[in-house]
Amino acid sequence: MDAYALHLAMAALVGASFVAVSAYYMHRKTLTQLLDFARALERKRDRERGAGDEEADYGQQVVKKGAQRRGGPVYRRKAAYYKRGGGSASLPEMALVGAEVDGEAEGDVEELAGPMMNGQFFAPGAGAGEGMLIPPGLPRLHTVHEGNKQPTRATPTKRSGHFIKPTSPKSPVASASAFESLEGSDEEDSLAIDAKLDTSYLHANGNFGPDSNSLFQNMPTDITANAEAKPLSSSIIRSHSVSGDLHGVQPDPVAADILRKEPEQERFARLKISPTETPSVDEAEVYKILQNCLELRKSYIFREKVEPWEKEVITDPSTPKPNAEPFAYVEEQKTDHIFEMVDGVVHVYPNKDSKERLFPVADATTFFTDLHHILRVTAAGNIRTLCHQRLVLLEQKFNLHLMLNADKEFLAQKSAPHRDFYNVRKVDTHVHHSACMNQKHLLRFIKSKLRKEPDEVVIFRDGTYLTLKEVFESLDLSGYDLNVDLLDVHADKSTFHRFDKFNLKYNPCGQSRLREIFLKQDNLIQGRFLGELTKQVFSDLAASKYQMAEYRISIYGRKQSEWDQLASWIVNNDLYSENVVWLIQIPRLYNVYKEMGIVTSFQNILDNIFLPLFEVTVNPDSHPQLHVFLKQVVGLDLVDDESKPERRPTKHMPTPAQWTNVFNPAFSYYVYYCYANLYTLNKLRESKGMTTIKFRPHSGEAGDIDHLAATFLVAHNIAHGINLRKSPVLQYLYYLAQIGLAMSPLSNNSLFLDYHRNPFPMFFLRGLNVSLSTDDPLQIHLTKEPLVEEYSIAASVWKLSSCDLCEIARNSVYQSGFSHALKSHWIGKMYYKRGPDGNDIHRTNVPHIRVEFRYTIWREEMQIVYLGKANICEEIDN
Ligand SMILES: [Zn+2]
Repeated sequence: MDAYALHLAMAALVGASFVAVSAYYMHRKTLTQLLDFARALERKRDRERGAGDEEADYGQQVVKKGAQRRGGPVYRRKAAYYKRGGGSASLPEMALVGAEVDGEAEGDVEELAGPMMNGQFFAPGAGAGEGMLIPPGLPRLHTVHEGNKQPTRATPTKRSGHFIKPTSPKSPVASASAFESLEGSDEEDSLAIDAKLDTSYLHANGNFGPDSNSLFQNMPTDITANAEAKPLSSSIIRSHSVSGDLHGVQPDPVAADILRKEPEQERFARLKISPTETPSVDEAEVYKILQNCLELRKSYIFREKVEPWEKEVITDPSTPKPNAEPFAYVEEQKTDHIFEMVDGVVHVYPNKDSKERLFPVADATTFFTDLHHILRVTAAGNIRTLCHQRLVLLEQKFNLHLMLNADKEFLAQKSAPHRDFYNVRKVDTHVHHSACMNQKHLLRFIKSKLRKEPDEVVIFRDGTYLTLKEVFESLDLSGYDLNVDLLDVHADKSTFHRFDKFNLKYNPCGQSRLREIFLKQDNLIQGRFLGELTKQVFSDLAASKYQMAEYRISIYGRKQSEWDQLASWIVNNDLYSENVVWLIQIPRLYNVYKEMGIVTSFQNILDNIFLPLFEVTVNPDSHPQLHVFLKQVVGLDLVDDESKPERRPTKHMPTPAQWTNVFNPAFSYYVYYCYANLYTLNKLRESKGMTTIKFRPHSGEAGDIDHLAATFLVAHNIAHGINLRKSPVLQYLYYLAQIGLAMSPLSNNSLFLDYHRNPFPMFFLRGLNVSLSTDDPLQIHLTKEPLVEEYSIAASVWKLSSCDLCEIARNSVYQSGFSHALKSHWIGKMYYKRGPDGNDIHRTNVPHIRVEFRYTIWREEMQIVYLGKANICEEIDN
């Protein structure tokens, strides 16, 4: 009874006589005693209230929960108590009691007892809420005051205290705050809160109490947060990204009500993390170096002089009409341009009399010097540290944003009529054409050909022409036997870290002759089978309506006629779809051709790849089919196994003509010569009003970090980029420059990196410009919609919300090379504006909240790096 007396004394001392206090400590040795006690209390209470019908239930609940409690986890109401205690002195106890009376009304003993379980006890009059720890060994139990009996109990090792103010008014604000602060801790401990208890409070008011000592205060449209604070574990937030019924205001409206509301009017909590952090002298130095890197990139990248939205203003809001005659050749003017290869780079002159070089591009020495500069920057310890900190901060800002706004984003999505994840446009930004069908599709196609055209002569092997039937007889296979397992094109365990084995999977049934018949365009049947197969894939895409693809198709550089051969295959097979554009991929196989004696120097390859392109650009009549085909080519890609060891290039590399040894040049050597020639070609094509071709190589799938450094300087966007996880500096630079990453986590999982280690989710949180792509559906995917499969697995494994998925889909349209007209139709008329102005939720299903958040944070980051002097254009970099 000492404690009780002490209690009263203290209450008297501070004159808080209006508060009736009850406190009791108990120490029960047996469950039976506890039960008896609870029942006794309950009976008495019920008598007094004249409501005795709940008794049995109540008692049972105590038994059940009491049993759980033994040795159980410590419940974390502590936070609420601290908050109350640390805050204003205006009736804290009243509020607290209010909360508890609410709880009692719900009949939840667990919650009522909860606060005491941490052994903390607050004396009602103890000044500004200083908690008093009950010393060990105090007597247990009890006081029952004015008819409000709180059954409480403690295990022998725990003490609990409680006080009750029977007539105290309920205070929803304070209650809510108490529960709000409870949320995080519960999640961490994965304890169950009684669901009945939460909702009323949360709906009443999601804000923290005014006296909250919280790191941020939630006001209707405004949030200020301390940028240093990292109170939130990401796991908590991710798990709420969709359901989010624990955050703030969560109205429960009828669906129609949601639709009546304009999503644009959606209110949300803006993160205002003011960069009061003035950089120190050392940091400012680092930022200047980063600025310099970004400026270097700007000096390399090809940008069109006139943006497409200035060239073509779209007034017609209806769907762009499909191109009725995509392969119609309209004669175009030949110009007098003269071009020649000089040290591996094409030089263009206005005519044969002029020696004035047009469209100059940085030479190899400059490029390799700049590349080494970037590499030095990425290796410097202080720069790495700062970039790492910035990246982690970006991640935390996004987490905070989700915590505050996930529900509002979800609501905004609900109120965008018609649109959902299924009917937002998504582009497969990285997929190889010869693997674009899935294995079942290929199998079905092979079987049908074997049935319908067994006597077609399809291949010349070992001195004889073979029909399709004979080919299968020579392999001892019948159409009936054939199944997906025999086809054996799928990646499996054996391909991990074995790019060579992965490449062999392109051979159906392990037979290169089947690959030649079905998956090549330059075979005896002029690629007719592959053409038909491609058309089937196109019609699947068209049926899906909302899925597009950018197929890579190879030019090897073995002979100049490859271009004409490819173009005529496309044109003759009428391979055109509104859902498809083409990229040219160049396999880095110099050493193979050298060994085979096909080429003598690296220069041969460059000649074979680029000279036809300059010819057709200067004089379209010279290769009419190539000319029309190039209108649908939007990018140039570099492919092959990046994990092969290579020597890092130096400033003084041999020129391509001098490169006659048997070794393959390094990745960055390929990158420079492709970039430089493409840059010149684009300048020439632009000057003639023709379409241009962006440099979009594979980079950072494996291998050295200098691949990513090289592509940082010269690539428009890249495929993969998973190795950015190893370099905080490059990762930060890719973020600042918003270089698109077409990532394929399932493909990585087959080749280089386990799915659960893939950096995609981290990059996404940090705000890198990421999209999801399939790479090789033939080897990797199982379903008819490989792109949706890719999204689906990412969404499940990484718990991406619908908003996240739609944002990724929107990114993919930006990264893609589809026309201005299509992009404006797909993602909104003003898509080329940065930030929310460029977003149309009715088309993208991405809430403005999300777009504005990304834009604001990126702009702030740019200002930090440019020390407040960043000049940010209102339109996107195209
Ligand atoms: Zn690829």
